[in-house]
Amino acid sequence: MSLFRPDYYVSNFENINIDRLKKRGIRLLLCDIDNTLVAFNDPESNEKVKRFLRKVEENGIHVALCSNAAPARAKRFARDLDVDKVYYLSFKPLSRNIKKAMKHYNVSPNQTALLGDQLMTDMLGGHLAGIYTILTAPIIEKDKWDTQINRFFEGFIYRHFEKKNILKKGEFDD
Ligand SMILES: [Mg+2]
Repeated sequence: MSLFRPDYYVSNFENINIDRLKKRGIRLLLCDIDNTLVAFNDPESNEKVKRFLRKVEENGIHVALCSNAAPARAKRFARDLDVDKVYYLSFKPLSRNIKKAMKHYNVSPNQTALLGDQLMTDMLGGHLAGIYTILTAPIIEKDKWDTQINRFFEGFIYRHFEKKNILKKGEFDD
């Protein structure tokens, strides 16, 4: 179960304390797109996301997108957000693309973080790759059909965490 447990839990990407990442020695932040940076059905990014990513980069941390989305959607966001590396069809929790990204930026697992909104893809994928994991509450409650299936199982994990006093949904670290 601890493979699903985030290292850092925030309500929104804007509330991420970048100093906290710097203190941990994070050099690369991989960001999920859907329901992490924008609503899953939102065709466009926005100024808030751009501002956040720029702020991360200004702090000396590389930013790349690591999404399970299809190429067209992922690439459009990368272009829009001026992010130079985008990994799509990542099939998280598989860690193949996370490893590719670490290689590209020449960073180790303990210098890498993954920001995402799902326990079963993002948190598990991050832990399997041995990197730091940041969980955000999803931007909107609605999800794509395949995510709805994950959310169903996610419910059990959240209840387990709550029972064991490990993590409570909605009780953020920020
Ligand atoms: Mg997502």
